[in-house]
Amino acid sequence: MQQQMMSPLVTQITPDARMSAAVHGDRAKCLQRLIRLDMPVPVTVALSFDAVRDAALGNLPDMAALMAPFGPQPLLSVRPSSENADWGGPSAILNVGMNDARFAHMALAMGEAAAARLYLRFVQSYAVHVARLDPDEFHLPDQADATSLGMMLAAYEAETDEPFPQDPAVQLAEVLRSMARAWDGTSARLLRQAKGAPADAGLGLVVQAMALGLGQGECGTGIVQFVDSTTGAPRITGRYVAQNLPQMDKTDAEGALYLTRDPRGASLQDRCPETFAQLLECGALCRQHLREEMQVKFTIDAGKLFILDAVRVQRSSRASVRIAVALAEDGVITRQDAVLRVEPVALSELLHRQVDPNAPRDVLVRGIAASPGAASGRIVLTANEAQASAARGEPCVLVRRETTPEDIRGMHAASAVLTMRGGITSHAAVIGRGLGVPCVVGASDLLIDRKSGRVMAPDGRSFAAGDMITVDGTTGQVLAGAPPMLEASLDGAFQTLLEWADMFRDIGVRANADTPADAQTARNFAAEGIGLCRTEHMFFEGDRLGVMREMIFAESSDDRRAVLDRLLPMQRADFAELFSIMEGRSVCVRLFDPPLHEFLPSDKPGMRDLAEQLALPLPEVTERVAALSEYNPMLGMRGVRLGIAIPEIYDMQAQAIFEAMVAVGAKGIAPAVDIMIPLVSAMREVELMKSRIERVATKVAGPARATLNYRLGVMVETPRAALRAQDIAVHAAFLSFGTNDLTQMTYGLSRDDAGRFMSTYVQQGVYAEDPFHTLDIEGVGELVAMGAERGRRCRPDVVLSICGEHGGSRSAIAFCRDHKFDYVSCSPFRVPGARLMAAQLALTDQIIKP
Ligand code: PEP
Ligand code: MG
Repeated sequence: MQQQMMSPLVTQITPDARMSAAVHGDRAKCLQRLIRLDMPVPVTVALSFDAVRDAALGNLPDMAALMAPFGPQPLLSVRPSSENADWGGPSAILNVGMNDARFAHMALAMGEAAAARLYLRFVQSYAVHVARLDPDEFHLPDQADATSLGMMLAAYEAETDEPFPQDPAVQLAEVLRSMARAWDGTSARLLRQAKGAPADAGLGLVVQAMALGLGQGECGTGIVQFVDSTTGAPRITGRYVAQNLPQMDKTDAEGALYLTRDPRGASLQDRCPETFAQLLECGALCRQHLREEMQVKFTIDAGKLFILDAVRVQRSSRASVRIAVALAEDGVITRQDAVLRVEPVALSELLHRQVDPNAPRDVLVRGIAASPGAASGRIVLTANEAQASAARGEPCVLVRRETTPEDIRGMHAASAVLTMRGGITSHAAVIGRGLGVPCVVGASDLLIDRKSGRVMAPDGRSFAAGDMITVDGTTGQVLAGAPPMLEASLDGAFQTLLEWADMFRDIGVRANADTPADAQTARNFAAEGIGLCRTEHMFFEGDRLGVMREMIFAESSDDRRAVLDRLLPMQRADFAELFSIMEGRSVCVRLFDPPLHEFLPSDKPGMRDLAEQLALPLPEVTERVAALSEYNPMLGMRGVRLGIAIPEIYDMQAQAIFEAMVAVGAKGIAPAVDIMIPLVSAMREVELMKSRIERVATKVAGPARATLNYRLGVMVETPRAALRAQDIAVHAAFLSFGTNDLTQMTYGLSRDDAGRFMSTYVQQGVYAEDPFHTLDIEGVGELVAMGAERGRRCRPDVVLSICGEHGGSRSAIAFCRDHKFDYVSCSPFRVPGARLMAAQLALTDQIIKP
């Protein structure tokens, strides 16, 4: 056999040659598949990764043997063939074998211009890529003829002191060597490593006989694909140019034909119906047997079709979903394959508007990409202005040093949020993700001058309130102006893919949802329930803030209860709405968590308003506010500590929950409620709360003659709660790990301030990643695993979950699966990605451990 005459490193691609992507690269393997499908592929020889490594060291294969399959006067192309086509490779070099004799011969057969173009193109590629000469000296001339060719050959000789090589074997050897070396270049290595290639990734090369598409009869070259790269819908696109003579000047429209019949002009379909049909058949064969949508490169030579190459169709995120689903629906791939083929990040792109990747970007500043998607709007500096802007129907970007719960309504109203401080779990980031509002936090190089109402970029540019900027929460960039956007698009394929994912995943996915709107989003994304409802957000709605402040200022328990009685119906209505929307799916309600000072004003005008509202002297208000302030509020009077010190708040919340359950139950919905106690660090805290809550339950259930289907559980977010989970689980039906606070307390790292130095820490390798972003499996994960194990030891059926921001990330989902958790809970917009990742992890496990 021919291939046995070559070294084992060089193989002619035949149907039964030994060939694999891991040895010869993806292109070589794909060409073999085309050959096996009886497609008219010109003679091709593959060099393995080892052959190319040898060539880079100057040890070329036996050139005579390599060239033998191509006959006496070869004209060849050389293309890269890396293991994964996405890893790139050096540019292809065409027309290897052109020399003076061949030029003279071809000029007679096809005319001087055509032959000169082929030779000129080769000399240019050779000079730039092989001899590494200055590309500026080797522009293709407008006029291709013997004179311009002579000039380029002379330029080559002048630069190298050698005539242009005439021996095809020498030419090919040099081309192979230069391509092999290019693969080892620093920039090529960095580029492919950025795409996930291993450090020792190999390069194969394929040498193929040129099918020129030039000469008598129908001749030309083209590419065709059978789906639209943007939408993924079936559509024939590509191009075909009759006579493979791309013009050297600006236009190459001459000779271009439409592929399919078109009223605007001639088409390949009309001109060569049989070849066109053959091309369609090749496309169908590729789809069926390569199990992928391929872009096919072809030439027609005197009416005969040649298939030169086929590569995976480039595709947008939207198209990737549609193509995977269509292939599975047509039985070409399995549903499992379809689920494995789509990158979860593609789903996130589909859920949000994005800056058009082709649009120019005028980057003002970079921060932390905290909530994906992009939006443009006029700068506003306060939450009130954001609401006013929204009321006028003008999109705005809320720019704040950092946000506080008081800004929530402004964040709702804004198209995007930008803060100078904060990290991935800061208030702005958490709320932004929950609302699906694009958000960049920690843009510490930006300055806000509140007095002049201006924002200063690090390059000195200054923007006034009202100026247009764009927040790209996917990349963390803030851009000047309003670049074009790509709209979010959720189509049927998206839903289908996720339904399939749900069939394969083995861990629950819930959403963190605080409001009815969040709950609706959670339902739309098929979350199985609400894993965390942060109830404090409800107290910033409408006029509740005022009532909350009255409660904080109440002098006695009775006064406090009286004020809370006014909040009770509002809270009951909140819960009733949530329970109705969730229609019997679990809702985990976390009792009040933040320190009370978050509800109080921090500036003079706010204090004055408050004094007026409470009819108290301003100094008294100022004094009370000061008395409530703490050195370390996040480690202070919050969570269950408030529940114990000021029990009326939790009593009111429990009553509202139970009454809402009764009300919703009366309408035929059976709510399933988990009541969660935050910031627990000792078993006695849970014991005390449990008895209070049970008392409230009895008080509500008795008169209503209702059975309340609720569970009481604990949010494990202090290291001590994880360490003592065996005692805590005595009183807790579930343990939900709040990895935001747990990370903060495990590292002793403020989640609101870490953004200031996090990038320096990550850059210097102190932390591999921002632990608020990527769950620290070694440290925080150890505590979570320990807590889970100790909790289970005491109560084997304790329900386990993660509800910190990590819940939507692949590593945290993998961790939770490994430790047999019941579910993860994440922001509603991360739910689709989490469903897909959970399914991919389950499927990958099945492949590894069938
Ligand atoms: C947590 O601490 O992980 C959590 C989910 O709660 P929060 O972010 O509201 O503190
Ligand atoms: Mg917390």
